[in-house]
Amino acid sequence: MRIALFGAEGKVGSALAPRLEAAGHEVREIELGDEPDVAGCDAAVDFTTPEAAPANVRAALEQGVSCVVGTTGWEPAELGALAGEQGLRLFVAPNFSIGAVLMMRFAREAAAHFPRAEIVELHNEAKKDAPSGTAKATAELIGGGPVIHSVRLPGLVAHQEVIFGGEGQLLTLRHDTTGRESFADGVLLALGRLNELPPGLTLGLESLLS
Ligand code: NAP
Repeated sequence: MRIALFGAEGKVGSALAPRLEAAGHEVREIELGDEPDVAGCDAAVDFTTPEAAPANVRAALEQGVSCVVGTTGWEPAELGALAGEQGLRLFVAPNFSIGAVLMMRFAREAAAHFPRAEIVELHNEAKKDAPSGTAKATAELIGGGPVIHSVRLPGLVAHQEVIFGGEGQLLTLRHDTTGRESFADGVLLALGRLNELPPGLTLGLESLLS
């Protein structure tokens, strides 16, 4: 596919571009200040900022190009409706790490069989917000208001454990993100399935992992 990559020089974008190329895609890199010219592309991918992503997505849709977006902190409903009107797809996922999404799914399944759970999320000290969005989403899926422990230390990247306790047994689910390359497999999955999705907005990698 020919793919326009908004935010190609960012932390995620610069890890993603080589993975897209290694998978056989042709990548058009679009940075801040460049024209959002995606004409002739088969899809656009955005890992920029919550301020930039809506304009990038709108520009791509207006040029007839479907989008895969990892940028967090913006509301995609309106542009999802625009995509639907045009017979295009807008796929948005707050977590493109397949392992993290599977961990959340397994946690939901385990929660039905254990009376108690607690979540430990561990991130590099550069991450200021706590608890992480993934920990909060996991807690919601588990239900019952599990306690979340947040650890911020140098040497960590992004890690999460969900510990379930029962009579005479424990079950621990753990996911470790060791590099931003981890998001590439999810983006490649979304690009591969993009044209099979219904026109309009699709949210979350879990919708592709059935
Ligand atoms: P980052 O390093 O700050 O990268 C963002 C890049 O986008 C920068 O190179 C920035 O350029 C560029 N940019 C800003 N406005 C632009 C525009 N209008 N057009 C094109 N490029 C533009 O951030 P990051 O860590 O890569 O993260 C990017 C986004 O992805 C964030 O919202 C983050 O929360 C999200 N994220 C999502 C996932 C997921 O799995 N869904 C995973 C990690 C991160 P300048 O530096 O020149 O401003």
